[in-house]
Amino acid sequence: MLRKITINWNKLADFRVLENPFPNPERIFSGLDDINPETFLDFLDDIGLVGMGGSGFRTSEKIKASIGAHTLVINGVECEPGITADQSVLLNDSLWVAAGANACAKAVGATKVILATKDGGISLDDLNKRYGEFSMERFAAKYPAGAEKLILKQLTGKTPPPGLRPYQWGYLIQNVVSLRAIGRAIIDGIPVMERPLTLTMPSIGFYKNAVIPVGLTIREVLEVYKISFDPSTHLIADSGLMMGHEVSLDDVIEKTTLSLFILKRDSAWHDERPCTRCGTCNTACPLGLHPYSLVERIKKDKVSSAAFKAQMTECFLCGVCSAVCPSDIPIVQTLKEGKKCL
Ligand code: SF4
Ligand code: SF4
Repeated sequence: MLRKITINWNKLADFRVLENPFPNPERIFSGLDDINPETFLDFLDDIGLVGMGGSGFRTSEKIKASIGAHTLVINGVECEPGITADQSVLLNDSLWVAAGANACAKAVGATKVILATKDGGISLDDLNKRYGEFSMERFAAKYPAGAEKLILKQLTGKTPPPGLRPYQWGYLIQNVVSLRAIGRAIIDGIPVMERPLTLTMPSIGFYKNAVIPVGLTIREVLEVYKISFDPSTHLIADSGLMMGHEVSLDDVIEKTTLSLFILKRDSAWHDERPCTRCGTCNTACPLGLHPYSLVERIKKDKVSSAAFKAQMTECFLCGVCSAVCPSDIPIVQTLKEGKKCL
């Protein structure tokens, strides 16, 4: 997480537009007509699909574990502040998203597909025109509403116990961009070679959603858009402010790159002050964890107890605890370190 950010998100990249400033890749596969679990799992590995919502895990393994699920959820509850790329994909690439969703549902045997989106985003009218075959469910436009556990909680009305995976309750939850990639491969025979993302530089009023080739350097992306970047005054934040990290011009676009924000350095960094035991981080954690006591344990290397490990397993590094901390303590960075003991 990039600490406290004072960005005015009153302006966002327009999700009605999804630019593609690069040449269309050539067809590589013949596509896929027959969706059955075996061929589909191999197909997902062949196209190189990993969780494009940010997890980066092999999608074939998730689908394999989810065989027998009754419901597929299309996760369009994009909630990282400042990112609108998922909504742009939902609106502009519905053919691919729907094809990917139907293929996943068929592969696991799901009989119901739910499109999960957030309040205040794309209108239900626009969604119904494109995804009328699916059920609709709205979620609060509040970070981290798009986390799988919170989606599961709203859909079932029950709090998932620690360690539960959605498939254990019969759900497969797939991010919109992963489904787009599946649809693109099935229909066009193109593997995962491109990444829709939000690109913004608020200081010059630049806000866009665009499809960028995977593997391109950030320098090359900025050259295409004629954005000049001075590392002494600005930083590049990859994949949001809550779960993302700082990158350099020589880093490349990954399959999991959700966004690139070019921000003034003085808006992104605040000095850490001592913990006042105010408890705000505990109250804010969406999973009811106790972030600062976890941090204390990690710092004192008291990481062997089952209770500690259970809380660390649950934590999905959403960064809410860091964001609310009035002392600007980078809690989530320490939690990230703590995950290494699992
Ligand atoms: S990062 Fe912080 S707020 Fe988010 S789940 Fe972990 S402990 Fe809770
Ligand atoms: S919010 Fe910050 S200051 Fe308050 S208890 Fe948590 S870590 Fe300490």
